[in-house]
Amino acid sequence: MGMEIECLICLKETAIPKNLNTGNYDGQITCRECGSLLQVKLVRSKVEQRRIERVGHPRPDPGMLLGALA
Ligand SMILES: [Zn+2]
Repeated sequence: MGMEIECLICLKETAIPKNLNTGNYDGQITCRECGSLLQVKLVRSKVEQRRIERVGHPRPDPGMLLGALA
């Protein structure tokens, strides 16, 4: 049973790691989409608190990288 949390930066759902105790967790989660760090508090699989810890950098566009190398 996976749980997801909405990222406050990119507004996409990011999966909470399965080994994390969603019944009682107070810690950080990294958004898989934008790499932002979120401070979250989970109680009984519900989000009690959620705030931005650090804004991540968007993934570089592969096309742009190729252009830079050429
Ligand atoms: Zn995000």
